[in-house]
Amino acid sequence: MKRISSELKDAKTIAIGGHVRPDGDCVCSVMALYRYLKKELPEARIDAYLETPPAVFRVLPGIENIKSEFDNKETYDIFFALDCNEERLGEARPLFDRARRRINIDHHISNTGCGDVNVVEPERSSTSELLYELMEPELVDEEIAKAVYIGIAHDTGVFRYSNTSVRTMEIAANLLKFGFDFSGLIEKTFYEKTYVQTQITGRAILESIRFMNNKCIVSVVTRRMMDFYQVGPKDLDGIVNQLQGVKGVECAIFMYEIGTLSYKVSMRSNGLVDVAGVAVKFGGGGHLRAAGCTMNGTCHDNINNLSREIASQLKKAQEQV
Ligand code: AMP
Ligand code: MN
Ligand code: MN
Repeated sequence: MKRISSELKDAKTIAIGGHVRPDGDCVCSVMALYRYLKKELPEARIDAYLETPPAVFRVLPGIENIKSEFDNKETYDIFFALDCNEERLGEARPLFDRARRRINIDHHISNTGCGDVNVVEPERSSTSELLYELMEPELVDEEIAKAVYIGIAHDTGVFRYSNTSVRTMEIAANLLKFGFDFSGLIEKTFYEKTYVQTQITGRAILESIRFMNNKCIVSVVTRRMMDFYQVGPKDLDGIVNQLQGVKGVECAIFMYEIGTLSYKVSMRSNGLVDVAGVAVKFGGGGHLRAAGCTMNGTCHDNINNLSREIASQLKKAQEQV
């Protein structure tokens, strides 16, 4: 597929979905495509499905149109799955499976493509960046530009991670020409944290433990801690990145309890460890330097199991030098 437009022939109903626990890139790519399709096909019905996005994304006008109830039994002409494969579509999965034509746009190295049409480019910073490349430039307006910009900014840690390319910056420059308040949007959606978010981040850092010659760092947030600070999973974004920034650390692990003996795991690498490879072994996925999975068992067992994989990768990396 060269352009989204070439895929839309005769489509009267189109659905868009992203992954469970949607992050900035996911929310923004869904919003950007939603607005884009509404513009390109004013007669068609366009529905966007996502779990309720974090409140900070209310800065995107129209976000209230995203449907977080998945009871629709419709067979859509096209379903766009963004920033994930079918397994992470959550409750939107039946809509995807049933659609007449399925299009998958993603940048996860672990995704082998789940649609009838697949655009999966792991070298892209974000799904938002990839989506922009597939749009007709003359149809991009200020609101679409805003969404694409914020999506890219979130997945690149505000143009800081190594997934930021020359092309990423060229696209960002084109988007800034629309003149929106990029600085305020980044502050509001990326950096600003509530008091309790800051508190639980502090607690997680305080209780972190280094191991494997200080090359790994781990922190665990329990249900009890989340209840105490009155926070939810959406409030824990960014903790793993703080752990990753500790001098000498090659691999950071953060996990929080999602149920009895069940943890959502986030991993970040500073280069030597391929955390996507580690996550895939435990049924998850992601990118070389940022990946995740869900693990069952006690947190100690999970840490042991992850450590074995990480240690074997570190050993390999050290043998190569
Ligand atoms: P997170 O640690 O949740 O911020 O995720 C880091 C990266 O890995 C993101 O690009 C996620 O989309 C991806 N990821 C996280 N969890 C999973 C999973 N269970 N399966 C596939 N990819 C994941
Ligand atoms: Mn994502
Ligand atoms: Mn992404």
